[in-house]
Amino acid sequence: MSDKVDRRAFLADGIRTAGTVALAGAAGVLAGQSSRAEPMVWQLDPDKCIACTNCATKCVLDVSAVKCLNCFDMCGYCDICTGYYEMGYLALDTAAENQACPTGAIVRRFVEERSGQRFYEYTIDKPLCIGCGKCVKGCALMNGSLCMQVEHDRCLDCNECAIAIACPTQAFYRIPASQTEIMKRKAVTALASRAQRALQSAGGDAAKRQEALEMLARVEQQQRWRAEQERLQTADSRRRTDGDRAAGTSDEERTTNA
Ligand code: SF4
Ligand code: SF4
Ligand code: SF4
Repeated sequence: MSDKVDRRAFLADGIRTAGTVALAGAAGVLAGQSSRAEPMVWQLDPDKCIACTNCATKCVLDVSAVKCLNCFDMCGYCDICTGYYEMGYLALDTAAENQACPTGAIVRRFVEERSGQRFYEYTIDKPLCIGCGKCVKGCALMNGSLCMQVEHDRCLDCNECAIAIACPTQAFYRIPASQTEIMKRKAVTALASRAQRALQSAGGDAAKRQEALEMLARVEQQQRWRAEQERLQTADSRRRTDGDRAAGTSDEERTTNA
């Protein structure tokens, strides 16, 4: 059911995840704006998120600053989208009772029929999304292209994010404001391939070449962030192991002295 299709046939601009905000982030990096003094913002790692519903209920805002998005480079454009349809749907139509989303925030649009298979595009009507993660959980059964991110134009950037405190998987991070997003690893790989293809086909078209370079900058930014997290995690594990070893030695010394 996770039939892959050539997304470029559907979309001129594959990933429309964080949209213009994300592009602004990449442009910021291109312009070399990242610095130590840069303000930090809250963001969540969709690879860690288990769509537990805390994002909808724990935010200090009445309607959460966390919203769903669809990463089109990962989407299968499935007819029977497990993120869109309620598990026990009665019919494959857009009637409210057949939709998983409690607020009707997912828009299903027919794209094309190919070899007898129908393909649909799923976009999120952001103002309607409450960040409940129900669609994210459903989509995880297939390609996992639906995921959540903190919307920076809504987030109050609380000193202690109430969701971060409640998050069972420690998925929340402080990231540089110019980065804006945390992409799934698979999404980064898909974007890297698209960027390389775009660069190769750009030829002498300066605008297309610039677009491809911005995609690559976005990829590199994500890869740098992941590498830094892994470095911090390794350093932390080493500190813990050294601490445990030192504590073990002290216990041994106490036993010997006694
Ligand atoms: S609290 Fe954490 S695990 Fe739960 S939905 Fe939010 S990011 Fe995902
Ligand atoms: S996160 Fe919840 S409210 Fe938002 S689109 Fe998905 S199911 Fe609908
Ligand atoms: S920082 Fe505050 S406003 Fe932003 S997501 Fe967390 S709780 Fe909500």
